Amino acid sequence: MKDLLCDQFQNTVSEMMLCHRSILEILSKVQESGARVQRSVVHSVTSCGCQKIVANKRSLPKEATLLDLKNLFDSHLSGTLCDNCRDSIENEIGRSLFYMAALCNLLDLNLYDIFIKEHKQLEILREYNLT
Ligand SMILES: [Zn+2]
Repeated sequence: MKDLLCDQFQNTVSEMMLCHRSILEILSKVQESGARVQRSVVHSVTSCGCQKIVANKRSLPKEATLLDLKNLFDSHLSGTLCDNCRDSIENEIGRSLFYMAALCNLLDLNLYDIFIKEHKQLEILREYNLT
């Protein structure tokens, strides 16, 4: 049984894409929307300032195990997204999902099937603590 919300989203995207059905346009929109997600995250750091990027070279102990790596690696982020930045990033991620669904439609792929497939792969990796 397919996930209804995911299928409804993909169907709505299909209905909205009446005028823009070129694979070339969709591919460029996928790339552009991904860049806009990144830009909105950078904006939270460089324009708003609600987040900071604090990064330096990682030094790993030679005896570190795979389990240790999870605690040794961090996101390099500090701070908390303000409401404006959160809203902006959510909007850009939503737009990116829209074009991903549009790409799936053009290629006759089911977005929910892709979620399930990826989730299964992640579960396998998790068993080996590789995520
Ligand atoms: Zn902010």
